[in-house]
Amino acid sequence: MATTVEFLGAAGTVTGSKFLVESDGRKLLVDCGLYQGLKELRLRNWERLPVDPASVDWVVLTHGHIDHTGYLPRFIKDGFRGRVFATRATADLLKLLLPDSGHLQEEEAAYHNKRGTSKHKPALPLYTAEEGRGAADLVTGAAYRERLALGPGVGITFKRAGHILGSAAVTVDVATGTETRRIVFSGDIGRYGAPILPDPMPIEEAEYVVVESTYGDRRHDPEPIPQQLERVISDAVKRGGAIIVPAFAIGRTQELMYHLSGLEKAGRIPRLPAYLDSPMAIGATEIYCAHPEDFEGDMRRMVMDRNCPLHCGDFRLARSPDESRAINEIKGPVVIISASGMVTGGRVLHHLRLRLPDARTTVFLVGYQAMGTRGRLLQNGASSVRIFGEDIPVRARVETIHGLSAHADADGLIRWLRTAARPPKRVFLVHGDPEPAKSLAERIKTELGWEATVPKYRDRAQID
Ligand SMILES: [Zn+2]
Repeated sequence: MATTVEFLGAAGTVTGSKFLVESDGRKLLVDCGLYQGLKELRLRNWERLPVDPASVDWVVLTHGHIDHTGYLPRFIKDGFRGRVFATRATADLLKLLLPDSGHLQEEEAAYHNKRGTSKHKPALPLYTAEEGRGAADLVTGAAYRERLALGPGVGITFKRAGHILGSAAVTVDVATGTETRRIVFSGDIGRYGAPILPDPMPIEEAEYVVVESTYGDRRHDPEPIPQQLERVISDAVKRGGAIIVPAFAIGRTQELMYHLSGLEKAGRIPRLPAYLDSPMAIGATEIYCAHPEDFEGDMRRMVMDRNCPLHCGDFRLARSPDESRAINEIKGPVVIISASGMVTGGRVLHHLRLRLPDARTTVFLVGYQAMGTRGRLLQNGASSVRIFGEDIPVRARVETIHGLSAHADADGLIRWLRTAARPPKRVFLVHGDPEPAKSLAERIKTELGWEATVPKYRDRAQID
């Protein structure tokens, strides 16, 4: 019997990851992500999937990011009754992330209802915070490197991917008759040699690899991150304004905290008031410190000794909206780390509305900015951005640190692919805009001599 993989998301784009493995009538969905960014993609969240959720047996999640998990509550709402697996840390992070995603959906619906800007009356959320919570409760946490038998002839193994806490590549084994096929899904691959999380684990055996290509055409800035931070922060301090970091709550926030504390302790930047203004980032940082299995070496020892390696104690935490608003009163240099990373929502909008018109402000972008997001507009030098229905002039300086990305660059992805024990029959490139995906496919063909293709939405590949 044939085994197939159908690309139901993150095909030719970076969000909405969903890959359906079908074999002998059994169905396994790898990742269940939400589309984010461009409106035409976000509208796809509202279309019925080409597969009936009730017919799917299992969902496996590579990591917590919403573009890999945020469709799960809707999938359940639409009839999925199977089991859901992720690593233990991912299962914990989802208890924060999925209710938050539902909350954002509810806010958006309320906004449209108030303004009458939706053709649906009333506009409804894709799912609610409560449904997000219900979905998170269904996720079973699993250990790294332990093979889980999901059902007859179907097994999965999680291997650390070094992208964010809990992130994993998933090895899927499917037996048909006497034959077994092995497909490795990369999820998102982190950087080699990054602090906090260890390097991605090797692929080992794989007949097919489905790999992300977010930065498939880029090489991260070779200038070491502490040096880049030192330069930008010293300059911002001289200009005397606030440093606003729209941060991804999970991963980059912790890495940034780690670097900033290190630079302060080494006396390379002045001690500045620093605020972590995101309940999600604060909660996620606490989860980091509860999962020693995600670390190695000194980091693991410090986590096990309850000696917070992220130096959380040095940051002022703004949990309540009042604490957040109080930051507005601070004149002079201050570091404000606040979600969301692509400036699509969250408390950072308030800080930017207030401080973007001030030429002393520095906005510090720390990761991939998807097309259609305010983050991308700022990165491209927009003279104004729309926030809460107002055009806010941008006089602030906008800086980007690419190397702090939670994603490997093209060299890193090639390095990860080389950890396969032997050349796979084919590599599929997903989770990338068309150019980076094509560029990485070319490198795989020329440098590794492997078959590589970029599937389109709803393509179905034979696994033989
Ligand atoms: Zn991710």
